[in-house]
Amino acid sequence: MCGLLGIIGKDPVIEDIYQGLIHLQHRGQDAAGIFAFDPVTGMQLLHKNRGLVSQVFNAETLPIPEASWGIGHVRYSTIGTGRVEDTHPLCIEGKHTISLAHNGNIVNYLPLKEQLEDRQVVFETTCDAEAILNLFSQHIPEENITFDDICHAANEVFKNTSGAYSCIGIITEVGMFAFRDPWGFRPLLLGSSKSDSSHAFASETGPLNFLGFENIEDIQPGEVVFVDADHHVHRRVLTNLPHTHCSFEFNYFAKPNAIMEQKEVYRIRSRLGMALADKCQEQNIQADVVVPIPDSARPSAISLAYKLKIPLEEGFVKQNHVGRTFIMPTQYARKKALSQKLITVKSVFEGRNVILVDDSIVRGTVSRRVIELAKRAGAKKIYFASTYPPIKHPCLYGIDFPREEQLVAYGKNLREIAEDIGADGLVYNDEMGLKESIGMKDLCTACLTGVYPTSMLGQEELQNLRLNAINEMELTCTH
Ligand code: 5GP
Ligand code: SF4
Ligand code: MG
Repeated sequence: MCGLLGIIGKDPVIEDIYQGLIHLQHRGQDAAGIFAFDPVTGMQLLHKNRGLVSQVFNAETLPIPEASWGIGHVRYSTIGTGRVEDTHPLCIEGKHTISLAHNGNIVNYLPLKEQLEDRQVVFETTCDAEAILNLFSQHIPEENITFDDICHAANEVFKNTSGAYSCIGIITEVGMFAFRDPWGFRPLLLGSSKSDSSHAFASETGPLNFLGFENIEDIQPGEVVFVDADHHVHRRVLTNLPHTHCSFEFNYFAKPNAIMEQKEVYRIRSRLGMALADKCQEQNIQADVVVPIPDSARPSAISLAYKLKIPLEEGFVKQNHVGRTFIMPTQYARKKALSQKLITVKSVFEGRNVILVDDSIVRGTVSRRVIELAKRAGAKKIYFASTYPPIKHPCLYGIDFPREEQLVAYGKNLREIAEDIGADGLVYNDEMGLKESIGMKDLCTACLTGVYPTSMLGQEELQNLRLNAINEMELTCTH
C-alpha cells in the first residue's frame, strides 16, 4: 500500500507536494520520493530514499523547488526489497523521460517480468511498478504523443497485468497521466484549482483539501486521465469490469477524514461500530466499559458504545513517536515497537468487564498484546470486537496480509480464535454488515472469502500466481 500525489501547474509545486505527502504518510512509511520537471528550463530531477517524508526531504534534497510539474510517493513495501532502487517514482529516460509511481500490487509480476525480459528489457529493481512502467513506455511513441497514444499504452497495461495498480506519471514536456486498474482496487482522485488552472492527482482527499484543490472526483476503474502541457484535461474509461474497491481501505487504511467513492470514511467506521454493537447484543455481551485500540478503531468504538449505552473510556495511551507498527517490515520489529507503543490507564480496566474495539485482527499481534495489557491492569472479562470480519486469506493486492497459516483466523472457529488471542469472547462484523456499512456492493472481500476478483485468469492459474507472488514477497523482503 502506498500514497500518491502529482501536481501539474504553472507555479512552483514541489513544496506543495512535500506538504501533501505528509498528509499521505499513514499510507506508507518505508520510503518517499519526488520526481520534478520544470517545463521552463527542461530540468528534471528525482530524489528518493528510505524513511519518512520529513527525513527524506530537506532544503537540499527537495528536487527543483521551482518546478511546476511533480509526482510524489510514500511507500509501504509488499513486493520488492525495500532498497532505494525499489522505491518510487521510477523513470525511463528517452527523448521524453517517463516517470511513474504506483499504489497496489500486480499479481502476475513474475510471468510479466519474464515476458518483458524475453523482449530484452533489463530489470533494475524487484518492484512491480517497473513492469508497469516498461509495458506502458513500450507503447508510447518517441514524438507527437497524443492522448490516444497514452490510452493505447494504458490499455496494454490493462490487458497484460492482473491486480491492483493506481498509477500517476509524467511524460516530460508532454504532460501528466494517471490511470486506475480495471477493478479499481485502490483509490485515486483528481482535483483542480480554480485560481491557477493547476491539477492534482492523489490517493486520498486529505492532501487535495489541504492544498486547496476543488472539484475533487474519483478516477473510475479502468479510466485514463491526462493533463496536457496546456493544462487541458482528457479522460477516457477503457474497461467495464465490476468495481471491486478494497473494502479494507474504508475499514482501516484511509484517514477518517478521507472521502472515497463519495463516502466519508469516518461515517463508514461509525456505521461499522453500530453493526458491531448489534453483534455484541446477539451474543448478549455485558460489559462496563468500551475501550478503543487507538487510533483507527476510535470512530467505531464511539458508535458501538453509544448504541450499547456503555461508557467509552480511553484505556490505552498511545506513544505517538513509535509509528504504525503493522507497517514495519518484520514481525520482530512490529512486536518490539508494539511493546512500547501502548500503555494502560489502570482505573479504566481495574475490576471491570471490558469490550476492546479494534479495526481488524490479522496475525493477532496487537490483539494478544492489548488483551495482556488489559489483564495486567486488572480487567475481569475481556471481549474483543473487530469491525472487519475474520481475515482468512492473503491479500494479493497490496495489503500485507500474509499467507494463510500466519493469519490467526485461518482454519479456526470463533471460540478457537478467542482462545488464541486470550479473549473471553470475540465479536466480528460479518461480510453483509461490512458491505452495508460501506454502502457499496461492489467491493473486494477476497481476504475474507478467498474469492479473488482478478480470476479472469482462471482459478488454477490464479492460485499459481498467488503462490508465486507470496514466495516472491518472502524471497525479497528485507527481514
Ligand atoms: P495484527 O496485530 O492482528 O497482525 O494486525 C491487526 C492490527 O494491525 C490492527 O490493530 C490494525 O489496526 C493494524 N493493521 C491491520 N492491517 C494493517 C495494515 O495493512 N497496515 C497497517 N499499518 N496496520 C494494519
Ligand atoms: Fe482489500 Fe482484502 Fe481485497 Fe486485499 S484482499 S484488496 S485487503 S479487500
Ligand atoms: Mg491498529
